[in-house]
Amino acid sequence: MSYATYTMTAEKLEKIRKHAAGTENLSFNVKDCHYCGHKSILIYEDARGHVQAKCKICGEESLYNVLLRRSRSFYYNPVR
Ligand SMILES: [Zn+2]
Repeated sequence: MSYATYTMTAEKLEKIRKHAAGTENLSFNVKDCHYCGHKSILIYEDARGHVQAKCKICGEESLYNVLLRRSRSFYYNPVR
């Protein structure tokens, strides 16, 4: 297995912090990979539309329609 090499810069750190801002108190649901069942993506309650994730285990890409969620209780919130 090969790992990509990259250089962390202040701009990249700022981008990571910017995208993660506001997720601390959100509920989320963990979706399994369609192919192998590995938990491959966290979907936060404020997500809308379609998302795609590549599984770290089997390498397949799974597409999810976030709007097909069942109810608010579908999401897990460790704070509540
Ligand atoms: Zn998989």
